[in-house]
Amino acid sequence: MSALSCQELTVGYGDGAPVVDRFDLDVEEGAVVALLGANGAGKTTLLRTLAGLQPVRGGRVLLHDRDLAKAAAEDRVRAGLALVPEGRSVVVELTVDENLRLGGLWRHRPRARRAAVEEMYALFPPLERRRAAAGHTLSGGERQMLALARALLARPRVLLLDEPSLGLAPQVTAQLLGVLRDTAARTGLTVLLAEQNVTGALSVAHRGVVLSLGAVVADRPAAELAADPALRHAYLGF
Ligand code: ATP
Repeated sequence: MSALSCQELTVGYGDGAPVVDRFDLDVEEGAVVALLGANGAGKTTLLRTLAGLQPVRGGRVLLHDRDLAKAAAEDRVRAGLALVPEGRSVVVELTVDENLRLGGLWRHRPRARRAAVEEMYALFPPLERRRAAAGHTLSGGERQMLALARALLARPRVLLLDEPSLGLAPQVTAQLLGVLRDTAARTGLTVLLAEQNVTGALSVAHRGVVLSLGAVVADRPAAELAADPALRHAYLGF
């Protein structure tokens, strides 16, 4: 069964031309799918639409066969969809530990909340070393890890990630994407990963989907896409 499916999804701003145009996608349960495309291809718009932050003009968004195309953002979160937006959103006034505890607040029992937070420290050792540090003192990589850990605390079934590698050093990106791949493999989490870092994304994804002007121009196994210089040159700008 598909965990996430889009059918003829069409999105636009104001009365302009569609930015996402009759977009079709099926993401199997437990798959990591890289969403690729040059600047302005429509990746952010698509993820924000899936999360319920941008209205659709037409089409369907199915999460485990339930149509959410018109559902409010909070109902999508309840249904198991989580978005980590571009820009590493963390509460900069709070410490790492406080940020994580906020992410686990929905667990009523303090012991369960604590255990969930400790689980995140096990996944992201650099965060554990910085547990008492204020958000504003974190490096870009630490912030991105914290944003990801906070999203994982909600135990989503489908995680949407917008450009997690933006501005990070290659080594930090590799560590972050590695945790993502391992978590998905261990827990069956389904991931849609929008990235401009094509090599990094394809190294952890099972499949790659290339967007150009809001439409799919390629949908192939990650290894196959990575080995296709013509496609990279035509749509990914290198
Ligand atoms: P990037 O990697 O630069 O974020 P992207 O693939 O995520 O690119 P989008 O940000 O979704 O692409 O942008 C797709 C198109 O929609 C672009 O032409 C952009 O100018 C337009 N667009 C994005 N946001 C808005 C907005 N709020 N109002 C009007 N047009 C917008």
